[in-house]
Amino acid sequence: MEERQQTLKQSLTIQGEALHTGKMVTMTLIPQPEDTGIRFCRSDLPGKPVLPARPEHVVDTYRCTTIGNNTWQIKTIEHLMAALHGLGVDNLLVEVEGEELPMGDGSAWFFARAILEAGLVEQEKSRRKWKITTPVWVENGNSPRSYLLALPGDQLHISYVFTSNNSSVGNQFYQLRVTPETFQEELASARTIAFTYEIEALRRQGLALGGNLDVAVVVGEEGYLNDLRYPDEIARHKILDILGDLYLLGPVTGKIIGIGSGHKMDLELVLRLKENLR
Ligand SMILES: [Zn+2]
Repeated sequence: MEERQQTLKQSLTIQGEALHTGKMVTMTLIPQPEDTGIRFCRSDLPGKPVLPARPEHVVDTYRCTTIGNNTWQIKTIEHLMAALHGLGVDNLLVEVEGEELPMGDGSAWFFARAILEAGLVEQEKSRRKWKITTPVWVENGNSPRSYLLALPGDQLHISYVFTSNNSSVGNQFYQLRVTPETFQEELASARTIAFTYEIEALRRQGLALGGNLDVAVVVGEEGYLNDLRYPDEIARHKILDILGDLYLLGPVTGKIIGIGSGHKMDLELVLRLKENLR
């Protein structure tokens, strides 16, 4: 069955604290015409500069995905991008009054809930999906080794293996076929992971200034410091991040398998895929 492009029924505004900068930020999602894709705008800057959410506009992948150029940036776009990919929002202008998106609860549910409340509307034109037609992969040979593979397929299926030496976290595996339903039920509310030893180091670098125990799965030497939403929440969140980063290409079908990979490898794969997609 042919799928049609979608946008929001009406604009919506979300306010919240940003994870890395710790600042309060306001974001407005504005419906857009067909074939315009997802675009980000710094509405607090003169001239309100806009960039399309494409891999060539990603300027940083350390701890989050940052879009921008050498004069302005917007950090931590990946969870909103995951919600847009998962729910099937094709055309949208994201106006941000600041340099980072609000973090919500550290998952994509914060964005997904607001989008579902505003409602989606089908547009005239059909949705064109990128089909992965040939195996493509990236790997990192440093210890621990990590891999990210993209294989051909008619639907979007993502698997992830999270590896850890921490005995309470251990290794985790999760996989799913991504549909609007499975996205809402199995992925949207999975939060990011933070090890306590990392949090101090990140804060010294001026990152994670807004984080607290509610917005991440926090792991100390003795194990989890908060209650989990799923026993394999970390692996699910990694799939969420891949789903968001993949959306830099637009809607995609194929089988994605990540082993220990993160945003940096997501972007490498996306750039590699871009050369091969039809
Ligand atoms: Zn994430």
